[in-house]
Amino acid sequence: KLGNETIKAELGRASWKLLHTTLARFPTKPTPDEREALSSYLHLFARLYPCGECASHFQQLLRQYKPQTSSRDAASQWGCHIHNLVNERLHKPEFDCGSVTETYKCGCADAEDEGET
Ligand code: FAD
Repeated sequence: KLGNETIKAELGRASWKLLHTTLARFPTKPTPDEREALSSYLHLFARLYPCGECASHFQQLLRQYKPQTSSRDAASQWGCHIHNLVNERLHKPEFDCGSVTETYKCGCADAEDEGET
């Protein structure tokens, strides 16, 4: 049982990292097509998330808190907020969303605003 909890937590950490980094790299001024892509991505992510109980709870959160896709900041803040709701449910501390966009770096060559390419 402890082993399974450890695996679930590792999957969670990896998934949150990918999710927050994706949102931190979302365009500052997205096109309608990019906005649609993010919305689809998040809904499919929630639907296909490998931990069943996590997936159904996350889908419920998505219905309650519609993904924000109007800008990088809006999307990043939405992601931080939704993660905080999961934190609350799991009795984990609340994360300060103030600098979430700067916290998640991709290390990519095209991220000129990142200061570490
Ligand atoms: P995590 O919550 O994994 O966070 C990793 C790191 O991200 C933290 O150390 C911190 O640096 C940073 N962080 C924390 N909060 C935020 C935030 N709000 N915004 C940005 N960064 C932040 N586990 C369950 O047991 N039951 C569930 O129902 C469940 N549902 C999940 C649903 C989803 C979609 C995902 C991705 C994971 C879910 N998990 C669930 C896993 C759970 O959320 C944690 O990932 C896991 O318990 C490991 O927790 P952790 O304390 O290492 O930190």
